[in-house]
Amino acid sequence: MSAWAQVEMGPPDAILGITEAYKRDADARKINLGVGAYRTDAGKPYVLNSVAQAEQSVLQQSLDKEYLPITGLAKFTSAAASLAYGTQSLERVAVTQSISGTGALRIGGAFLERFHAGKAIYVPGPTWGNHGAVFRDCGLKVGQYRYFDAQTNGLNLGAMLEDIRALPRGSLVLLHACAHNPTGVDPTAPQWAEIQKTVEECEHVAFFDMAYQGFASGDVDRDASALRSFVAANKAPVLLAQSFAKNMGLYGERVGTFSVVGADAAERDRLLSQVKILVRPMYSNPPVHGARIAAEVLTDAALRPMWLGEVKDMADRIIRMRAALRTQLEELGSTKKWNHITDQIGMFCYTGLTPAQVDRLASEFHIYLTRDGRVSIAGITTGNVQYLAESIHKVTK
Ligand code: PMP
Repeated sequence: MSAWAQVEMGPPDAILGITEAYKRDADARKINLGVGAYRTDAGKPYVLNSVAQAEQSVLQQSLDKEYLPITGLAKFTSAAASLAYGTQSLERVAVTQSISGTGALRIGGAFLERFHAGKAIYVPGPTWGNHGAVFRDCGLKVGQYRYFDAQTNGLNLGAMLEDIRALPRGSLVLLHACAHNPTGVDPTAPQWAEIQKTVEECEHVAFFDMAYQGFASGDVDRDASALRSFVAANKAPVLLAQSFAKNMGLYGERVGTFSVVGADAAERDRLLSQVKILVRPMYSNPPVHGARIAAEVLTDAALRPMWLGEVKDMADRIIRMRAALRTQLEELGSTKKWNHITDQIGMFCYTGLTPAQVDRLASEFHIYLTRDGRVSIAGITTGNVQYLAESIHKVTK
């Protein structure tokens, strides 16, 4: 008998299931709104020009493939930290390269499991599907605070603050820095100020997940403003998981950082020493190629502005598609309110479609999305938005 005979078949990943169904569908009108990656207006994956040029320049240097240090490529991590935190407080930031955003969350989870007394992290309801699994696999308990308001398809700030205030003092609170996944609902600047004040008053710890810097507003500084405001106040301890998957289109290269902000430079050194002790037995040291590309993009005088322009172009296309979808639905005479499509921001829109409506979109209209009604705006193009609006209108009448 096999040693693994008792191992049961695990459930399939919800998003991958959608992609499979989409691939099987032979209808020419089919649309995949499940994808978590940017697509051009032609519906194609996108390699940024700045990234392609940076890669050429890396290749031309004929660098060796020796190991990086445990914390990764210094040129990359320091440029990445400045991109996230701005120029202030960098001397307090203990930063390590990570296997993209997921790997950063995983290092963060391991760090918190080792050094935080509470060993429980509170995530927004709802949150990215992988957060719970990542943190539980790190040995943390995962709780939730209320976030999304199904009545308005917006933020339920009152409930969010009430829940955060009710947590034990010094709790770990996970915050999406911008472009909340899956809802697309971000706090406004005054709402962020209230969230920050509450977190600080309760002496909670803020763990920011920033997987979409630049993708929300098109401006990398603006998208980092909540994070920077927490760090500038220096009252609540801050950790950060940073990903370059989306904003550089480096998905499969797995480029990111994990950082934890100390009270001062001496604390930074102690924190970094412990981060190294965590990373060494986890994967020893990170991959080099993607980090070289990202470092080149971030530090080259010509490539950086080119990249910032490309980030803005991606964000702008998303914003245009939101506007087009809403306008088309309104022009079709839909009596439902669709303002949340344009109020929300970033790659995803929580449409408010019910599971039954989502099922009808798939079976009758060849349109695929997750059953929570989340639409990846990146899957919408000028060529398919009208058909999409007509189909949504039909299932929501
Ligand atoms: N956090 C959030 C909120 C995300 O949406 C994602 C990507 N879907 C990630 C983290 C991590 O992505 P990656 O590991 O590809 O950087």
